[in-house]
Amino acid sequence: MTRYEPADSFETPRFSGVRTFMRLPNVRDLENADALVVGAPFDTGGTFRVGARFGPESIRSASHLLRRYNPGLGVAIFDHLSVIDYGDVPVVPGYIEESYEKIKEGLEPIHRAGVIPVVLGGDHSIALPELRAAAAVHGPLALVQFDSHPDTWDAYFGQKHTHGTPFRRAVEEGLLDPSRSIQVGMRGSIYDERDWNDAREMGFDLVPTDAVRKLGMEETMVRIRERVGDAKTYVSFDVDFVDPAFAPGTGTPEIGGFTSREAQVFVRGLVGLDIVGCDVVEVLPPYDPAQITALLAANVAHEFLSLFALRRKTGG
Ligand code: MN
Ligand code: MN
Repeated sequence: MTRYEPADSFETPRFSGVRTFMRLPNVRDLENADALVVGAPFDTGGTFRVGARFGPESIRSASHLLRRYNPGLGVAIFDHLSVIDYGDVPVVPGYIEESYEKIKEGLEPIHRAGVIPVVLGGDHSIALPELRAAAAVHGPLALVQFDSHPDTWDAYFGQKHTHGTPFRRAVEEGLLDPSRSIQVGMRGSIYDERDWNDAREMGFDLVPTDAVRKLGMEETMVRIRERVGDAKTYVSFDVDFVDPAFAPGTGTPEIGGFTSREAQVFVRGLVGLDIVGCDVVEVLPPYDPAQITALLAANVAHEFLSLFALRRKTGG
């Protein structure tokens, strides 16, 4: 059996070669992969700044710095996991429904093959076709969402599909089990005091940044794990969860957020969960000096791969 792993950085320097994620082979072989990284270069769902279509290539470029061993979780990722860079799913810029079809069709075979995708966005509107693909195979999922916004608004400009609406649509379509789902990090100004309560009325446990600060990070991570339990879980990481000082290259930045260090700790806190898919979204390279945000996103994806590897290592 073929095992896929990154190029050896003691043989060829990390700045060399074609920019795949972590210098992994760019192949479409689902049979011999345990997990994969796939781009969804789509930003038609943006309601403010756009540019997330360039997110995947920017994250891939920044990921060349990453190394094989994660000391935070104590795992050598590729000792336990065969991983590929699957390339990008097709999209139609400017046409959200058509893109949703293509993204769903692109991702569903990955789930059918039992391979865990790490999706690189793209704006957050791509979460809906991601969940359509995952739920078609796994049934309704638990959601762990790190974000400064719940993305459960009903519509923008009369349109039901934007990066501010995917999780309301996902509940309406029965793709999520809100009673097992949790949204963490909401903050910033909102349109109406009901905005967050709407999400709670849909059944989500919504934990704003202020509540996380009162509760403490350890307790918040316990709350996440207890909420999700042993359910099949999708994890969605919007980089605006992190403060714009650490993640300036994003579509709708909100001050008063978490550090990149805290983001790492939060993702590591998902250890033991049955994650069937995940994403890191809303990286906008045009607003990202020195690849700050892309580097953060690459590290978040690295933490995801580490979680999958650790689960294999410990027989989960
Ligand atoms: Mn957001
Ligand atoms: Mn979002």
